Formats: sequence, structure tokens, C-alpha cells
Amino acid sequence: MKYLSTRGGMAPQPFCDILLEGLAPDGGLTLPETLPTLDPATLESWRRLDYADLAARVLGLFIDDIAPDDLSRMTHAAYASDVFPRIAPVKPLRPGLALLGLSEGPTLAFKDMAMQFLGQVFEYVLARRGQTLNILGATSGDTGSAAEYALRGKRGVAVFMLSPHGRMSAFQRAQMYSLQDANIHNIAVRGVFDECQDIVKALAGDLEFKSAHRLGAVNSINWARIAAQVVYYVWGWLRASQGPGQPVSFAVPSGNFGNILAGHIAREMGVPIRRLVLATNENNVLEEFFRTGVYRPRAASQTHATSSPSMDISRASNFERFVFDLVGRDPVRVRGLMEELRATGRFDLSDLLPEFTERYGFVAGASTHADRLRTIRDIRRETGVLIDPHTADGVKVALEHLEEGVPMLVLETALPAKFAETLIEATGEAPEVPAALRDLDRLPQRVEVMDCDAGLVADYVRRHAL
Ligand SMILES: *Cc1c(COP(=O)(O)O)cnc(C)c1O
Repeated sequence: MKYLSTRGGMAPQPFCDILLEGLAPDGGLTLPETLPTLDPATLESWRRLDYADLAARVLGLFIDDIAPDDLSRMTHAAYASDVFPRIAPVKPLRPGLALLGLSEGPTLAFKDMAMQFLGQVFEYVLARRGQTLNILGATSGDTGSAAEYALRGKRGVAVFMLSPHGRMSAFQRAQMYSLQDANIHNIAVRGVFDECQDIVKALAGDLEFKSAHRLGAVNSINWARIAAQVVYYVWGWLRASQGPGQPVSFAVPSGNFGNILAGHIAREMGVPIRRLVLATNENNVLEEFFRTGVYRPRAASQTHATSSPSMDISRASNFERFVFDLVGRDPVRVRGLMEELRATGRFDLSDLLPEFTERYGFVAGASTHADRLRTIRDIRRETGVLIDPHTADGVKVALEHLEEGVPMLVLETALPAKFAETLIEATGEAPEVPAALRDLDRLPQRVEVMDCDAGLVADYVRRHAL
């Protein structure tokens, strides 16, 4: 299995070579040259596997430069019961509608699932090559903490995570800053998230600095994260379908288009997925695309701060991978579209509109704050189950696309305990915090507070990099 770039300017490379890189050298995103396929008999033979064994089989289809035994050891470590007390449970809401519980890990959001595998495979590949890597990132909460929990204590890798000082919730701060592992460095910058992001871009864009300190990233374009997410859809299909070929639909609260892209890949591989239901909040760049065929990212200043904050994106960093398939895997066409996007702020694929649903199974919808509150309240009243605001966006849009005889799984992308304020607004009650996290705010915190200055961050990295 070799990987290519969506823009056509990269010689095919094996998995371990693309793993540690971000963008392809030509600015594109990496994808398998040809997708592996899954036939009905293989899928049926996987029904009784546990999650870690299934993950090893699915990931093995994308990774042929790591021995299957090693891959299996890594998935068993990533998906062990001390990391995920419950692993991807299906939680029924109504006949034909259920949640796929992806948020049972250390930071209570679905990013843990892919990130835990990433932690394993980074450590393995770095050890095999005798290399070190310093991850530099910025976070407003979710991705940074999932990355830190996945990489804490791992050999050969250190994490430098910038966060906006005083702008994260007490829970998020306690979660990140209480980590005492020597390879985890929290840097609270006196500024906003965008300024943290700018510092990361400045340092990673300084090629000399980047190569001197072996800087890397764990952002959502990383192919290993996408591959690890394909497992959700195979697992979900195996749990929700009754027999060979029975279609199942998935509803996905979406932001950077990483999670639902994995669903698209599973579907292209042959998993019998009927609909991929894309849900956005008020930041509806993707919903607009699937409705009109026009992709029109917004400026940061036009991105609303909503009560499902992890979906507040202005441009979807993984979208180019789907566009590549839409235009018949033609890198010249992709380059043209990206050129058009840069020049005019948009591109138009409305000529392909009929294919979005007919060929690729996509449908989309958006929700508002009022929709989220109502959905949380309704589901609570009907079923006793509390859902978080992101999952509520998914449930709201899923309900608009239910079909007789087709089970619908909504991907639960976070637990309600993370978003107590909105839950109280919706139901009048605070959600229960899992026992392991209840006393988090009493633990000592380890964080370096710094002025908003790339030079200061660079000095810190220089002093502490591996
Ligand atoms: C990251 C995130 C999303 C969006 O996922 P994408 O892969 O970026 O589309 C949705 N919900 C939650 C809670 C998240 O943390």
C-alpha cells in the first residue's frame, strides 16, 4: 500500500513515511493510491471480533509496513480497558436510532479513539528509526488534551501545546495542566486561540527551526487518525446490521470533515453504508456545500462561537480528500479548484450535485443553539439519556433523514460532562462527571504562562525539545 498526494506532486510512499509528516510536499493531502476493499464474507467473519482485534484488521489494510503482530499489540494497548472502560458501545435511543459511544476515553471526546492509536504508532515508528519528534500545537481545548493524553510518557516524543491563558473552562485547564509527565509541556499564552495558532504557524513555517528541532504535528489531517476512524464505521455496521449487506446510516457532527471522511472511505471500501448524514451547527460551510455544490469557507471573523464549539470551523481541513474522489481522483482538477479557492474564496462543483447523494450517500443539515437545547431536552425526556451539544447536532439532523428499515447510528462525539453549562441551560441539571475526573481540579497544575510572543515560545522549545 502506497500513498499519493491529492495534488499529484509526491512520489508514492509507504505508510510509515507519511505518518510523521503533515501536508504532502506539494501542499496536498495524502491518500492511499487505491482503497482496499471489504467483501461481505470478510465483514461477516469479523462480527465476533473485539474492538482492538477489529482495529488491527482494518488498520492492517492501510498499513503494510508494520508487522501484523506489532499492529495488534498497538491496538490492544490503545483500546485497553484502563484507557476506555467501555469501548464504542451502542446506546439505543428509539427503534432504529442509536448512539455509537465514541467518547468513553480519558478526555471524554471521540478524538481520544484515533489519538490513542496515533500515540502507539508514533512511539513505535520513532523507536524503529531511532528518531525523536517534538509535537507543536495550539488548542482551544479538545484536540490538545486528547493529544497530550495519548502521548504522555511515550518515548521519543515531546508535546508543546499552546493554549489561550484564561480562556479555557476550569475543567479543560485541569484536564491538561494536571498532567505531570516530563514529555508534556503546557504553555498558556496571554492571548486568544488564533494568536496561539499564529505562533505555531510562524515556528513551523521557519524551516530551519522546524528541522533543527524535528517539529511535528498531530492535527486532523494526519492520515493515521483518519485510518483509525474508519474502524468506527466498520464496528458500527457490525453492531447495527442484522445480516450481510444490510444497510446502516451514520450521522456525524462535523467540523474539519475528518470523522465523516472516514465514513466515506469505509463506504467506498464496501461497508454497506446507506447515508452519511453530515451535521453542522451555525457554522454551515459544509452543509451549504452539500446543499448547493458551492464551497465557500468563511473568514475567522465570520465564524460564530457556538454551544457546540468543537464544530466552530471556517474551513474544513480534510475536505480536499473528498473533493479528490468527487472529481474522479484527478489531481490536476484538484489543483485548479484550490487555485480558484485562493483567488476567489470559493469553488463551485454544482455540476456534480446529483452525485453527492446518489453516488456517495451524503446528505446534510444544520442546527442552531435553540435546536440543540430542544434536542437535548427531548432525548432526555423520552429516553433518560443525556447527550452533549455536538451529539445533539447529530441527532437533530439524523431525525430529518431516518428511513424505514435502515438503522441510524449517531456518532457520539463528546460526553455531556464536558459541556455542563449548556446541559444546565437545556435541562436544569448538571451532567454527572465520571468518577475518574471528579477530583481533577484538586490536582496540582503544571503550566508555563507566557506573553504572546513567538520568540519566547521558540526559546522554550529550544530549551526543552528532545
Ligand atoms: C473534533 C470534534 C468534532 C468534529 O469532528 P471533525 O472530524 O473535525 O469533523 C465534533 N464534535 C466534537 C466533540 C469534536 O471534538
